[in-house]
Amino acid sequence: MTYPRMTAITLTRKTAALLMLPVLFLICLLVTGCLAAPPNTDWATPTTAASTAGAGDEIQNVLDTYGGAITAKDRNQLASVLDPQNPDFVRRQQEFLDRVQDVPFAQYQVRLVSRAGGAPGTITAKVDISYRFQGSFSALPEPRRAAFYLVKRQDGWKLSGDASQAALGKPSDAELWDLGTVRVVSGDHALVMYHPGSEDPATRVRDYLDAAYPRLVATLPGTNLPKVPVKVFDDKGQIDLAFPGKWQEWTGGASRDLGGSAGQGGEIIIAADLFQETASSVPGYNRKMVGHELTHVALFPLTGDNTPPFLLEGLADYVAGENTVSLLKDKLSGGGSFSPSLRDLYQPSGFDVLLNTDAAALAYEEADTAVAYLEKQYGNDKVLSLLQAFKKPDGAGSQDQRVDQAWRTVLGVSWDQFEQDWRNYVLSQ
Ligand SMILES: [Zn+2]
Repeated sequence: MTYPRMTAITLTRKTAALLMLPVLFLICLLVTGCLAAPPNTDWATPTTAASTAGAGDEIQNVLDTYGGAITAKDRNQLASVLDPQNPDFVRRQQEFLDRVQDVPFAQYQVRLVSRAGGAPGTITAKVDISYRFQGSFSALPEPRRAAFYLVKRQDGWKLSGDASQAALGKPSDAELWDLGTVRVVSGDHALVMYHPGSEDPATRVRDYLDAAYPRLVATLPGTNLPKVPVKVFDDKGQIDLAFPGKWQEWTGGASRDLGGSAGQGGEIIIAADLFQETASSVPGYNRKMVGHELTHVALFPLTGDNTPPFLLEGLADYVAGENTVSLLKDKLSGGGSFSPSLRDLYQPSGFDVLLNTDAAALAYEEADTAVAYLEKQYGNDKVLSLLQAFKKPDGAGSQDQRVDQAWRTVLGVSWDQFEQDWRNYVLSQ
């Protein structure tokens, strides 16, 4: 079964937490399997129903024509596969095409997953939808599931309605273009999509992303990202429609892994209202947030299941130019133990379980200083080698053993020694 795996979603939290934006709890929200599968994903494909026998290729051809029409923005081609007897559906599909006029799809693929017969000459088709953009990542991302009704007319099968609610048990998640017309501003490294009211934040996101790119390449040599897609939603309400139940907390920006391979890449999601609010209340935050999320997109293909999350968050802040140490220095000079420790933050779930803003802010200070120390003491190449060490298949053993082994192999020091060196480094700042 190829239902899309859930993606890691990373929120920039720290600065916002320090600066009195709405209360923030989880820092790095890894969505787990509990939200993954809608009902009926194993919907059987009947092979005996007379009304659908042999219709597989025909249906896929209709879907290919539909996807091709969207890529080419061809109204007549689109109309050729829509059922004229359902004018409301036809109107909504034409409106969809109008809304994506500016969106540079390189490919819009609708793939038949399964079908079920209804009344004679009707089919409900479950499909996977995925798309990629010109100048952006080359491989199709993990698809989104949707469903259509089709009816057989004299000149062939036609799309005749949205069957998502009936076939999937819920409406299909909203895309940016389901919520309004989409405009695009493009930079050297960004492809920013937004609704007409959000041109100002969209333009600034593009500029911040382009400005952050050289530091990203300096920190992660060999990075060569195509244009990174950025979707600017008007507000959190829209984001909840696009990613229902997944992002309870919101600080204005997040990044999202679009698949397991580098070719699939990632995207950045922005909430325009919070972005604007933050622009005036916390100068400089948005610029750092965009650099932070861009770094996550570059790190997705370098990340394995056991990669210490403090490396990822610390690198993202390192590129963003974020380096506060106020809380951490107090804790370290106090001499006692504190939570989370840097050791807690190499556990794969280390950033998922932070329960309050102080813990969140402290966690980021630890991540930031650990990466700053790694960069200063050992250099870029060793940081990259550490990432590579965790990209390999796990092997046996605990995370403690894996981390200690990687540190010894790559840096020539035990974890314990590193932790002590890091404490001394922070105290000397
Ligand atoms: Zn992050």
